[in-house]
Amino acid sequence: MSQTPFLPFALPEIGEEEIAEVVDTLRSGWVTTGPKARRFEQEFVAFLGGDDSLQAIAVNSATAGLHLALEALGIGPGDEVITTTHTFTATAEVVRYLGADVKLVDIDPATLNIDPAAIEAAITPRTKAIMPVHYAGLAVDMDAIFAIADRHGLKVVEDAAHALPTTYKQQLVGLLRSDAVVFSFYANKTMTTGEGGMLVTRDAQLAARAKVMRLHGINRDAFDRFTAKVPSWYYEIVAPGFKYNLTDIAAALGLHQLKRLKGFQARREQIAARYDEALSDLPLILPPRPDHEGDVHSWHLYVVRLSDDTPVTRDAVIDSLFADGIGVSVHYIPLHLHPYWKERYDLKPEQFPHSQKAYERMLTLPLYTRMTDDDVERVITAVRKALA
Ligand SMILES: *Cc1c(COP(=O)(O)O)cnc(C)c1O
Repeated sequence: MSQTPFLPFALPEIGEEEIAEVVDTLRSGWVTTGPKARRFEQEFVAFLGGDDSLQAIAVNSATAGLHLALEALGIGPGDEVITTTHTFTATAEVVRYLGADVKLVDIDPATLNIDPAAIEAAITPRTKAIMPVHYAGLAVDMDAIFAIADRHGLKVVEDAAHALPTTYKQQLVGLLRSDAVVFSFYANKTMTTGEGGMLVTRDAQLAARAKVMRLHGINRDAFDRFTAKVPSWYYEIVAPGFKYNLTDIAAALGLHQLKRLKGFQARREQIAARYDEALSDLPLILPPRPDHEGDVHSWHLYVVRLSDDTPVTRDAVIDSLFADGIGVSVHYIPLHLHPYWKERYDLKPEQFPHSQKAYERMLTLPLYTRMTDDDVERVITAVRKALA
């Protein structure tokens, strides 16, 4: 048994500035969506380096942001949306919220990202949109996605839950020409607001609809245009909207996490580099690097796969790591293996050979900014022992 304390798989890094800002919010009397949520949106656009056309819409989860984006694009019953089977269920479930259908496709085993050729093969006359996921924080080959979208007249909504900050050909994810991009601030993501997300778009109509639907379908802007003076108590309901607004308490965390994000990424990069160096002689497939020179990987996840000649099973490696007090995880149990998705679309593992094989051989090592160098070495020692 291990004498040292258990090393968790993930931990958020919350500093005194975040805590003071939350306390300030609590004392201010304005605890729900207000001035800090608005400032968080503005600073998010500034962080990305977006121009005036870029809008950021703060929401209470990435799931909410993805739902709002697809709703604003008019996705509904009879439509199909293509995404990867190798993702978290949130990416796909929002399509079902709207009564549309999900077409799950396989990944490219080199990147673990959605395979553009598989997208092309899955397109039908009902296909309306593609949802690429920048898996682990490595950018999807977006030129290939845009080429397919252009050829078939499809919308593109990026699930960027892992991809802050990630670049594709030197441009931050969030600035590409997709219809919408959605980030997550869930507790284990590269920055956190506890729960939270950000929908980013250059489409003014999409933004206007998402803002209305974010808060009960309330519209004050439409009224403003025709009336010189709107009474403060007056509003109109223009649709049965949702309750997806981000609180100022959460935004208070976000304001400071955003300031620290570049530093967080640098530390993550350092840990990833140390893992790469220390694990390179083992029978493992290490995480793929960006294709394009100088691109940034967010290193949300450090995923290794056992190579074909590894003498032990993935489950045995995980058991050994836990026995040594190391928290690890698996990202993901592919959607095609979950009862709901499997039964709804009659899916078989043979339809997704690359995702299936990756799943059977993968595990995610701990990688977060609060890990000390000693923690990193402890993980390395335990992985070497597990594979011995
Ligand atoms: C975390 C995650 C989400 C959902 O994010 P929430 O903010 O928890 O709603 C969506 N997609 C992927 C790929 C994720 O990892």
